[in-house]
Amino acid sequence: MKVYFKNIYQTISTILIGMSITFRHMFQKKVTIMYPEQKLQLPERERNRLFVNMDDCIGCDQCAKACPVSCIEIETIKAVPGDIVGKTGTTSQGKKKALFVPKFTIDFAKCCYCQLCVFPCPTECIYMTDVFEFSSFTRDGLLYEFTDLTPEQAAEKRKKADEFAAEQLKKKELAAKEAAEKKAVAPPAVKPAEEPKKDTKPENNETKES
Ligand code: SF4
Ligand code: SF4
Repeated sequence: MKVYFKNIYQTISTILIGMSITFRHMFQKKVTIMYPEQKLQLPERERNRLFVNMDDCIGCDQCAKACPVSCIEIETIKAVPGDIVGKTGTTSQGKKKALFVPKFTIDFAKCCYCQLCVFPCPTECIYMTDVFEFSSFTRDGLLYEFTDLTPEQAAEKRKKADEFAAEQLKKKELAAKEAAEKKAVAPPAVKPAEEPKKDTKPENNETKES
């Protein structure tokens, strides 16, 4: 009988304790938000997903070299004379663009958000954004491509660059051949006769002997 009443007492007292805590919290300031409809303000120096503005990228590879986990992959193609790289051929700061960038990938599955790639960029075209919600069901979904060239355009630029390089090599070889032929035909250079050495004996010696 004693246990029976003890159980009733414990049940009522625990309910009252729980209800009092709930009641108290009803009048306190809320600490949760309705994410994702509501979002917290990000800290000033947050690090999130990177973005590359390809209009300003000169393909210098500095960012990829600085990356400690090698998650940036860049391929470049040399522009041939007459080619305009990008929309204007220059960056927004007026720097000349001489390389096409057919591949610029960042693997965010490997990225550790250290931001080391951002600082060496000479044109400040790679930077952290405020995007932090980009989860994916596959690893491939975290491989981001930033190039603005289609595979067809890249293939065309590559072909043009190869043809130009082959042409330049041919010209170089031809010039070297012509120079070698000229050298073979030219008469041997005549060595000017050397002036005989003067007798360097001091004059006063002669007078002594006589
Ligand atoms: S933030 Fe760090 S890890 Fe990520 S791409 Fe840049 S250098 Fe590499
Ligand atoms: S450092 Fe900047 S300009 Fe150079 S390849 Fe990277 S993003 Fe492009």
